[in-house]
Amino acid sequence: MSCVLKRPNRAQRRALLRHVEALATGGVKEEILDWAEKHVMFPHSDRSPVFRRDLAPWLNEPLRAFGAGKWRVVSMMGPVGFGKSTMIEVAASYIVGVDSGGTLIVGQSDDDVRAWADSRFMPMLRAMPATSVLMPRKRSEVRAASILFPHMPLYIGGANLNTLQSKSMRYVLLDEVWLFKAGMVREAFGRTHDRGNSVIFAVGQAGIIEDEHDTLHETTLKHEYGWTCPECDAWNTYDDEHLKYDLGARSEENQWNWTRLYNSARMRCPKCETEFADTQDNRRKLSASGSYQPVKSNPEPHRIGFHCHALAIWWVPWGKLLVERMRAVEANQAGNSIPLRIYEQKRKAKPWSDDDESPAIVVQASGYSVEQYRNGEKIDGEVLRALTVDKQKDHYWFVVRAHRADGSSMLLNAGTVREWSQIIELQKQYQTPPLCTMIDAGYDTSSVYAFCAKNGYLAMMGDQRKEWVHRQGRQQFRHFYSPMNRVQLSGMRASVVYWSNDRIKDILAKLWTGVLVPFEIPRDVVGVYAAHMTSERKREVFNRTTGEITRRWEQIKHRDNHLWDCECMQVAWSLMMRLLRVEENDSIQVDTPSE
Ligand SMILES: [Zn+2]
Repeated sequence: MSCVLKRPNRAQRRALLRHVEALATGGVKEEILDWAEKHVMFPHSDRSPVFRRDLAPWLNEPLRAFGAGKWRVVSMMGPVGFGKSTMIEVAASYIVGVDSGGTLIVGQSDDDVRAWADSRFMPMLRAMPATSVLMPRKRSEVRAASILFPHMPLYIGGANLNTLQSKSMRYVLLDEVWLFKAGMVREAFGRTHDRGNSVIFAVGQAGIIEDEHDTLHETTLKHEYGWTCPECDAWNTYDDEHLKYDLGARSEENQWNWTRLYNSARMRCPKCETEFADTQDNRRKLSASGSYQPVKSNPEPHRIGFHCHALAIWWVPWGKLLVERMRAVEANQAGNSIPLRIYEQKRKAKPWSDDDESPAIVVQASGYSVEQYRNGEKIDGEVLRALTVDKQKDHYWFVVRAHRADGSSMLLNAGTVREWSQIIELQKQYQTPPLCTMIDAGYDTSSVYAFCAKNGYLAMMGDQRKEWVHRQGRQQFRHFYSPMNRVQLSGMRASVVYWSNDRIKDILAKLWTGVLVPFEIPRDVVGVYAAHMTSERKREVFNRTTGEITRRWEQIKHRDNHLWDCECMQVAWSLMMRLLRVEENDSIQVDTPSE
């Protein structure tokens, strides 16, 4: 879409003439902060109806970088309430007033960003003399989705292909980029059509590692906002570690006295150890002494990034942040990582890493080796053994485990083979009964069924259900696995058992902690075993429809979980064989008649 210039009226012609004259006579355009202090008004704001560079000093450098004309990407990642809207409003009105060029403002959704434009941005453009004269006269030229100024078009829309396709823009302003769907930032770059003077301006809080904003931010020359110690002149980052408090705020019963903790917060200079009490005066003084310093990064040319911690936002008490963080740490230790994730993203403004939630499993080997049991040798007290297999495209992961009557077990071998035939060889080598040989049918289901039918093996599938009802005469039992299902296959029959992802994985995780029965592994277990065992973690999932938060096992990005799946099948099978008995104090009773 090309920019159609509308015929300007007299006032607009005068404004445009002044605009051109200023450029011609001055040679340099007015610097963005100077211009903003002279012209910008926020008619919607109670705190500050005008722009002042001393109010939120962490905004100044990113805005300067935006206005400098030297950077093609300017990224700002900051805590909630750092003044993100102010930044976009100042940048956008500067474009309209001084640095004209086709502009696209992109928010999470059409509704969000257009509501902002309606309630804040348009009233602002109309209130400021510098921009109001440039506002189009015709109603049809001012819409929620676009303003067709006489000297430039400005579009407003959500981060979707509809907004981000076809328009060619000099400026693309992106708001809350962490919420964008994958690929939307690439689309935004597409809009600049590789112009040499384009600018992508991305602002928002932090999301998760490798989301759209994090990925973009990582390509920039990163800067951190820090404060300068008035005593020793050292430049310090805003860091939770430098926030000190009274250890006495914790009682002998290990309970925090929250008020005492809150009131004891103070910032300590890590160089000279001077402490600054948590007063608004001190917080504002330190923040005003602040500046951005480059931190370690691997930038692409012409890209600059800024990061700022909530501790720099002087109107937020340090004590409040301290209590929030301590509560989050405690919740995390109790197994609920949501508050910590929120603190990291919204206060620290650091993308959350899935790795932060990986299970703390320490794989400790027992004193035996794979070699000792390679030829079908039995372990002490063995009653049954199982071979479980997870099929991939061109290879197979397997686990052989020997089980005792008390549910304890020893891993005999784990690894990969390349051919179907090698599974049969393994089964024979380890002398596993055919029905104790199980293959995950989640991938390439029909070939797995055919192979199982032919060899008398059992197909298995992980499932979202929590339990299944099993009937025995008049009695009903509930189990974490399904009754045997028969699948008819061109004259042969395969048997399939489904198992509950949620329950079985809970039990496997418990086996790992050693609170149930010994779950042993050999000292020379295959190297990737530990990595596979920590490939999944239980995560809170927010259900948008019901508003409920439930916990569910999920694979951690980029981690292979095949041996973990093989061990899950061993657990499901061990329950089926009545070897492993889930403790009575476990949340769900098993083997209890339901009537
Ligand atoms: Zn100092």
